[in-house]
Amino acid sequence: MGTITILIIVAWFTGIGLLLGIIYRKGLIALWREPVLRHPVLIFESDDWGAGPLQQADALNALHAVLSRFKDCRGHHPVMTLGLVLSIPDTQRINKSVPLAYHELVLSEPVFIPILNAIKQGMESGTFSAQLHGMAHYWPPALIASAEHNVEIRNWLSHQEYASTETLPDHLQSRWTDGSVLPTQPIDDAAIERAITEEVKVFQDILGVAPVVAVPPTFVWNDTVERIWSKLGVQTVITPGTRYEFRDAQGKLSPTGIKILNGERSAKTLYLVRDEYFEPARGHRAADTLMKMVKKSALGRPTLLETHRFNFINDKNTCNNALKELEILLKAVLQRFPDVRFISTATLSAQIAAHQGSLINTSFLHQLNAWLLRIKEISGFWKLARISGFALPLWLISLAVSQSKHNASHSAMNTP
Ligand SMILES: [Zn+2]
Repeated sequence: MGTITILIIVAWFTGIGLLLGIIYRKGLIALWREPVLRHPVLIFESDDWGAGPLQQADALNALHAVLSRFKDCRGHHPVMTLGLVLSIPDTQRINKSVPLAYHELVLSEPVFIPILNAIKQGMESGTFSAQLHGMAHYWPPALIASAEHNVEIRNWLSHQEYASTETLPDHLQSRWTDGSVLPTQPIDDAAIERAITEEVKVFQDILGVAPVVAVPPTFVWNDTVERIWSKLGVQTVITPGTRYEFRDAQGKLSPTGIKILNGERSAKTLYLVRDEYFEPARGHRAADTLMKMVKKSALGRPTLLETHRFNFINDKNTCNNALKELEILLKAVLQRFPDVRFISTATLSAQIAAHQGSLINTSFLHQLNAWLLRIKEISGFWKLARISGFALPLWLISLAVSQSKHNASHSAMNTP
């Protein structure tokens, strides 16, 4: 190949590289800034526990028993975070009220003591970590307003003793938007502030610790919610990689187009991304879930698996199957990743916030390696890179980086 041809090829790739770099600057920089983890991390992020059906106590004890049987190389058990719902509607009192008025049953009620004990036992032994899901899994004035004009909601209230809010229509399960009408309407800032002040206090009173991680019900929240959570000590918000602020005329989540990566911040709040699912009741199996973790770990990201209580509190077969899949998954994870780290979301978030700690890899080579894999997620960028041939130099760089990483770890192993 002549010198001129080589110069033309180099000029072409340089030009394309610069052009793509300018067009996709924002996304490329964001992916570079996203932390890279030194070890695979697995966390079960479970929601909806707390006030509600009494069979939760047995379910939590069974989960604790499975999680207790496994340990990572440091002796830490797998952690299941429990997104706690602190109250449900007191349906008996609501149904008797004229006009219809809201009453609640709080998790501190004597009837919920076995549930609370199971939660606390897991927290003490490191299998559970409590997170704030909300005082309720709905906006109470919206529930009552809906019950007044909607017979379906009125019936729902009449047939629930210890309510399963999973069976409410989706748009009413969002807490931080008024779902009594569609599209849902914003809630007054002062009302949000009163509600959050109450839920943070109740969480602290019941659990004895302040909430530091919040999971917005159905991932609908806004700046006001986040600002007040942050003011009252919540440091981390769990996201699905985006944010929803309301529901549309059909009751569906309305996209904002906001993209969120692990470690990104809004003022004082740090975001983490939970976008993989382990819901055995919906057919998710251990083997497929392991592959999700393989992909996440290759990208230097933690695997946060969303798994709801409905997998563990319904009919016996569903529950047993969910526990069995959990056990198979944990065995497979320890086999595939002997260096896996089982930690709580709060601990992971603290290390990411400090950008230091045993989990955060700040080596340039590892960062570059993860970045070269992550940039394929920017679909426009990767499509143009392939069409223009720019994917070829990127691939060659990846190979060189992998080789250097391999050499570096090999020489580290040979160092006494
Ligand atoms: Zn929920």
